[in-house]
Amino acid sequence: MSEQTAVLFKSISRHFGEVKAVDSIDLEIRDGEFFSMLGPSGSGKTTCLRMIAGFDRPTSGQILLYGQDVSQLPPYERPVNTVFQDYALFPHMTVGENIAYGLMIKKVPVVERKKRVEAMLDLVRLSGYGERKPAQLSGGQRQRVALARALINHPKVLLLDEPLGALDLKLRQQMQIELKSIQQRVGITFIFVTHDQEEALTMSDRIAVFNLGKIEQVGSPADIYEHPVTSFVAGFVGVSNLVKGDMARRIIGSEQIFSIRPEKIHLDKPDAAQSDDEYAVDGKVRDVVYLGLYTRYLVELGDGGDLVVVEQNLRTTSMDVTRLRGQSVRLLWKKEHIQMMGVENA
Ligand code: ATP
Repeated sequence: MSEQTAVLFKSISRHFGEVKAVDSIDLEIRDGEFFSMLGPSGSGKTTCLRMIAGFDRPTSGQILLYGQDVSQLPPYERPVNTVFQDYALFPHMTVGENIAYGLMIKKVPVVERKKRVEAMLDLVRLSGYGERKPAQLSGGQRQRVALARALINHPKVLLLDEPLGALDLKLRQQMQIELKSIQQRVGITFIFVTHDQEEALTMSDRIAVFNLGKIEQVGSPADIYEHPVTSFVAGFVGVSNLVKGDMARRIIGSEQIFSIRPEKIHLDKPDAAQSDDEYAVDGKVRDVVYLGLYTRYLVELGDGGDLVVVEQNLRTTSMDVTRLRGQSVRLLWKKEHIQMMGVENA
């Protein structure tokens, strides 16, 4: 990754009548980065991607690609390419012809074309599939052809709009690893749109979390997961306990809102000792869900509040854990594991 800026958003807004699809966003994406736009449906991710591609124009603001203002450039003159969820392959063409399409349009000589198609087939691990038709491929293979076709022109930025959405879970997980490895080999900036937090955490160098046309946080996966700055991010990325009001005062001594991840909380006997670097709170186990690898507990803290706790079943069986239902327990966690939230109306 270099220090060069690939994409720069300067106060970008895109309004559709009353709807502020994108609401004054500032964003910098670096050259060579695997950057994900993560957020729920309707939060403005696709609109951002379409504005980078040139399929849509901002209502106000400026987009720079490698320092150049692209406002007036049509999509085909921008150094970007897009991979869509539905692959958009030409069914009557072979895999090789599909991949070569961009080169054909640019009138690249046949010999050169063949060489570059072979290199692309090799990159996406489809050597030997060049003569097949798209219908003779699996979903994952088709997606790899779409990727090869988008990369053959050496775009500086590749835009991917939920490209794995149509694949089943197992294939999607394989493709996540593969996409990341391809991105590292070609060194091109990838901008990946998804509503799947696990997908974003798995692949990205950095993630922007979108909500209602705004970006709530930009950071590395570890940053976003361990230090969410708003309650929306804490709730959307992974599972988090949000503690506020009276419950916060009882635990940390002030009414500030904080989040604590369920896996950071340790469930112990009611008389367990608390050390100086820990917070502790007593409660009763209301619910136990045994999930094989781990168990999820819902612990009631009296006066209405509750906390979700997740513990791995390292030495416990389903019998052991279900016996805890209704029992009094003490919950303990390291003070450093809480994340204070910014001032907001959560
Ligand atoms: P999804 O994951 O469902 O694609 P998204 O985060 O990509 O969601 P956008 O597609 O960017 O969200 O849409 C943001 C908002 O803008 C939504 O409320 C949507 O209805 C609205 N919107 C998008 N395109 C148009 C359009 N052409 N006309 C009117 N409203 C639109």
